[in-house]
Amino acid sequence: MLKFVNISQSFPDKFSSRIRKNSFDEIYHKLVKDKAKAQASRCSQCGIPLCHIHCPLNNNIPDWLKLAAEERLEEAFELSSSTNNLPEICGRICPQDKLCEGNCVIEKSGYGTVTIGSIEQYITDVAWEKGWIKNINIKQEKNKSVGIIGSGPAGLVAAEQLRIKGYQVTIYDRYDRSGGLLIYGIPNFKLEKEVVMNRTKRLEESGAVFKLNSEIGSTISFDDIGNKHDAILIATGVYKPKEINLNKNDLLNVVSALDFLIASNKKYLNNKVSEFDSGKLNSLNKNVLVVGGGDTAMDCVRTAVRQGAKSVKCLYRRDQDNIPGSQKEVQNALEEGVDFKWLTLPIEYIGNGKILKTKTANMQLGSIDESGRRHPEPVSGSEQMIDTDLIIEALGFEPENLPKMFDLEELTVTKSGTLKVDNKTMMTNISGVFAAGDIVRGASLVVWAIKDGRDVADQIHQYLEKDLKITEDNSKNRELDHA
Ligand SMILES: Cc1cc2nc3c(=O)[nH]c(=O)nc-3n(C[C@H](O)[C@H](O)[C@H](O)COP(=O)(O)OP(=O)(O)OC[C@H]3O[C@@H](n4cnc5c(N)ncnc54)[C@H](O)[C@@H]3O)c2cc1C
Ligand code: SF4
Repeated sequence: MLKFVNISQSFPDKFSSRIRKNSFDEIYHKLVKDKAKAQASRCSQCGIPLCHIHCPLNNNIPDWLKLAAEERLEEAFELSSSTNNLPEICGRICPQDKLCEGNCVIEKSGYGTVTIGSIEQYITDVAWEKGWIKNINIKQEKNKSVGIIGSGPAGLVAAEQLRIKGYQVTIYDRYDRSGGLLIYGIPNFKLEKEVVMNRTKRLEESGAVFKLNSEIGSTISFDDIGNKHDAILIATGVYKPKEINLNKNDLLNVVSALDFLIASNKKYLNNKVSEFDSGKLNSLNKNVLVVGGGDTAMDCVRTAVRQGAKSVKCLYRRDQDNIPGSQKEVQNALEEGVDFKWLTLPIEYIGNGKILKTKTANMQLGSIDESGRRHPEPVSGSEQMIDTDLIIEALGFEPENLPKMFDLEELTVTKSGTLKVDNKTMMTNISGVFAAGDIVRGASLVVWAIKDGRDVADQIHQYLEKDLKITEDNSKNRELDHA
C-alpha cells in the first residue's frame, strides 16, 4: 500500500469518441487485474479515511482496497457488499468526484485520488463472473409480507434486505421492467441494462414477487395492496418534470428529458415506442437544444449525439464551475462533440405549432442566492437566435401528487410534495406505511436511495417484530383466558 508516490493515478481507459458517438455501450474499458491491483495499492490507508466518511453508505473503502491490492478479491467483495447492495452500479455511476474520490487524502495532497469507483466496480464484476454472488438462502420464511411500491434502487434494496430477514416481499411497478431510473432513466452508455437485470433476476430467484405493469392508484388501488400486506413501502421516485415558463403551448417539438430518455432506453431494449418511431422523441438529423446543466441534461445531450442529431447544444444559465452535475460527465459530452452554451438562457420559443428558432439571452452571475450559488441575471441587448428542431427540457423533477394518485388524502406531504416521514422510523403519518428514496428526499442519487432502502428495511423489520410480539402476546393471553 501507500504506492501513490511511485504509481500514477490511472482511470479506466475510454473508447475513442468516434466509436462512442455510434454506440450505446458503456464508454469505459473494463479494468484488468494488474491495473486494479496497482491502483488499489495507491491507497494511503489513513487513520481517519475521509473517503469512508463522505460515502453515503460509509463503505469500508481502505479495507477493501487493501484486500484488492493483495489479490484477495473474494474477501474484498464480501466486505464491500456488506455495506452496499449494488456496488457494481455505484462504481459505475456515483458522482465520485463529489463523494468518496473528491475527499481522498492523496487527492488533496496533489497526487490524484485513488480511483475508488472503478475498483469497486471491478471487484463486483469479478464476483459475478466467478459466481460468488448467490441467491438469498432463506432458512425460515416469516408469516408476514411487505408490499413495495416502486422497483427503483430504494425499493429493490429494501426488498433484498427484507428477504434476507425472511419476509415475503411483493414489488409493484407501473413499468413493464423493474429497476426504476436504473433501467429507463439512466442511459446504457453509463450503466448497461444487463447489470441491472442481473440484480432483479437474482432477487426474483430469491423469492421476491414482481408485479409489473401495476400502477398503484390506477391498475390496483392503494387500499387493495394495503389489505394484502402487513406493511407497505412507498418508493415511487419523482417523475413530474419542472417546467420553464415559456410559450410552449401546442409546440410539438418541446419534450421533457425523462420522456426522451425513457423512449430511448425502451427502444434500446427493443420495445415498440411509437413516439420514437414517429420522430417526436428522436433526434435523428435534428438541431437539438437541451436546456439544463445537471446529469439528466448530460444524459440527454449524449443520447442525442448517439441518435444521429445534426447538432447538439446544451444551454445552461450559469457557468461550467456552477453546474449541479458531475464535471466528469461534461467532459465526456465535450469529447463527444456537444456544444455548451454556458451563461445562456432561452427566453422565447419561436414558431407556429412547431419551434423553428430559440431566442436566447446571455447571462452574468450576480450575488449568491438561496441555493448558495451566484444568481444568473440577463445581460441586456445580448439576444441571439438558434435554429431548433427539438427542445429537450432537463430542469429537474418534482413529486407527483401521491395523496391524490393513491386516493389517500390523509397521507401527509411536505411543501414541495415529497412524503413526510418520521426521521427515525421512516414511517409516514399512516401506521405501517413507510417511504424511502427520491419520494422522500426529492431528486437525489442512487447511492442515497440504496442507503434509504437499507435503513427502511431495518425500520420495517422493527415495526413487524413488535407487531409479531403483540400478536404472540395476545394469543398467549387468549390461551390463558381459556385455561
Ligand atoms: C436521467 C437521470 C440520470 C441519473 N443519473 C444518475 C447518476 O448517474 N448517478 C446517480 O447516482 N443518480 C442518478 N440519477 C438519480 C437516480 O436515478 C435516482 O436518485 C434514483 O433512481 C432514485 O431511486 P428511487 O428508488 O427512489 O426511485 P426510481 O428509481 O425513480 O424508482 C421509482 C419506481 O417507482 C415506480 N412507480 C412510481 N409510481 C408508481 C405507482 N403509482 N405504482 C407503481 N409503481 C410506481 C416507477 O415506475 C419506478 O420504477 C439520475 C436520474 C435521472 C432522472
Ligand atoms: S458507493 Fe459511491 S460514494 Fe461510496 S465508495 Fe462507492 S462510488 Fe464512492
